[in-house]
Amino acid sequence: MSERVIVFIGAPGSGKGTQSSRLAKQLGIPALSTGEMLRAEARRETPAGRKLRDILAAGSLVDDSVVCDAVNARLRRDMPARGIILDGFPRNLPQAECLDGILAAMGKPGPLVLHLQASRQCLMERLTSRRHCEICGAVYNLALRPSRLGWNCENDGALLAQREDDAEAVISHRLNEFDRACAPLVSFYRRGDYHLIDGDQDAEVVSGTLFAIVAMSAARAAA
Ligand code: AMP
Repeated sequence: MSERVIVFIGAPGSGKGTQSSRLAKQLGIPALSTGEMLRAEARRETPAGRKLRDILAAGSLVDDSVVCDAVNARLRRDMPARGIILDGFPRNLPQAECLDGILAAMGKPGPLVLHLQASRQCLMERLTSRRHCEICGAVYNLALRPSRLGWNCENDGALLAQREDDAEAVISHRLNEFDRACAPLVSFYRRGDYHLIDGDQDAEVVSGTLFAIVAMSAARAAA
């Protein structure tokens, strides 16, 4: 339905991961999470991996040049004809400018931007109760979407873990980082195909809204 690059903007816990994988499934296109990409890199026992591990654990942002180079390499190597969803990139103005440059060089239009905006209370509740499976990557929420097996993953029975950067002290730092970068990012994208969505709503409701926006945007582009 869409050949565009779709970008998710949203604070940690706003639902970017959940919604981008649902949308990817619905549209039959891949979703690239820079957070996942960096966490995989951080698991490597190399000096770069160890350095990355410290940055992620502190909830700070990784250098723009590192992330931009990685996304650039990924998109140039394999830009699916039907489009791709970017979850967690761009996260600030320099990264948005970098993405524009990458897309322009590939002859692609600017991205469709989906901004999930959730209240601080909702973000805190979601992040402190988020758990994941380190084997298959499945994500649960102790309150909203608990595993039917309690502390174990429904897919493989592995014990569920909490992300190191979901500790309460680190969450505040991550949310502040997001708030600082968000306004310039929004004013950069507001001129284009930008949509603000209430991320406090139930995940099913948000999914429906997002799908409708993507369909509308694709129809407009085809007209
Ligand atoms: P996420 O999984 O999106 O919550 O990202 C987890 C962590 O990965 C962030 O707290 C940052 O340390 C890092 N990260 C992910 N995406 C980016 C990005 N676009 N720029 C800089 N750091 C990033």
